[in-house]
Amino acid sequence: MYNIQMVDLKRQYEKIKPEIDAAIQNVLNTTAFIGGPDVKAFGDELAQYLGVKHVIPCANGTDALQIGLMALGLKPGDEVITTSFTYMATVEVVALLRLQPVFVDVDADTFTMNLEAVRKAITPKTKAIIPVHLYGQSANMEPLLALAKEHNIPVIEDNAQAIGGSYTFSDGKTVKNGTMATMATTSFFPSKNLGCYGDGGAMFTNDDALAEKLRMIANHGQKVRYYHEMVGCNSRLDSIQAAILRIKLKHLDEYCSARRAVADYYDNAFKDNPNITTPYRAPYSYHVFHQYTLKIKNVNRDELQKMMADKKIPTMLYYPVPCHKQNMMKEFGGADYHLPVTDMLQDCVISLPIHTEFTTDELSYIATNFNEAINQLAK
Ligand SMILES: *Cc1c(COP(=O)(O)O)cnc(C)c1O
Repeated sequence: MYNIQMVDLKRQYEKIKPEIDAAIQNVLNTTAFIGGPDVKAFGDELAQYLGVKHVIPCANGTDALQIGLMALGLKPGDEVITTSFTYMATVEVVALLRLQPVFVDVDADTFTMNLEAVRKAITPKTKAIIPVHLYGQSANMEPLLALAKEHNIPVIEDNAQAIGGSYTFSDGKTVKNGTMATMATTSFFPSKNLGCYGDGGAMFTNDDALAEKLRMIANHGQKVRYYHEMVGCNSRLDSIQAAILRIKLKHLDEYCSARRAVADYYDNAFKDNPNITTPYRAPYSYHVFHQYTLKIKNVNRDELQKMMADKKIPTMLYYPVPCHKQNMMKEFGGADYHLPVTDMLQDCVISLPIHTEFTTDELSYIATNFNEAINQLAK
């Protein structure tokens, strides 16, 4: 029997164990647990990898979004446009800062922010736009950035799911996700494409003044120790996590390729099944498949998940309830939204296991059982 998991962190660790263990041991030996040399080195190495001027590490991807919004100096009630079809963290920070989340629908094929919906949602109170590079695919940034520029609205890329991926502009120029907008945020949660062994996150920007502000806010609003210029928070990347991330960054491209190979395998296995729509790959995006998310029809999804579970194959729904329908959003008017594509996707998406360590036998076992279950259930 196979031991199939949504994400197999153990097998990945075993392959790089000597390097990782040595890096952790080195932090223990130096006892530089907070703000040690590994934190700075990792920030520099990631900046180099991405081709961005500044990487500001912090404690997690949610903090990165929060600090990013704080740095824009918004006032309570200012509007922030984002999608509802995302992880709650993207929207939660907007609410936490007493800003007004404004939800727009996504495209049914890419699962990312719909441009026309953004255009319609812009008001004089719109003070930020947060596109999410969902499941590893870039949002369509070129027209979005043009629209934002026209209205002078800052854009924050939520790049928690698409680090290592890239976007190609119409002039042929290709840049890494997280380097295109006013700033970007990411998460190093263990299951993310570049994950550490605990919590971690970062912000990226090419703007020197903004970088300084982000650094200050993440550090209690101080630039000089014990002199606090503004209200900030305490959000740091641990030295041990930074040391781990330095090792894993060297493998990121190979991890992205491994994920794409899994997606290729699944795409091919499902291409003739009329009840499965495999993920669309937008021509402008180098998709890094944080998730492999299908659309299914004519089958009861609960039964499908149960049948897969009986074969010891986990499946997940990302996400079972869109943000605007969460109880948390009631006081922000979430229930007033009508987002037909988001609602449609909520009912038909399902994600299969994807990670960097699969064998072909395991993929075959998953794909065969999934096709069979669908065929059996199809009405
Ligand atoms: C994971 C994730 C976050 C939050 O990251 P944490 O490190 O868990 O705080 C934010 N946005 C998206 C889209 C995510 O997938």
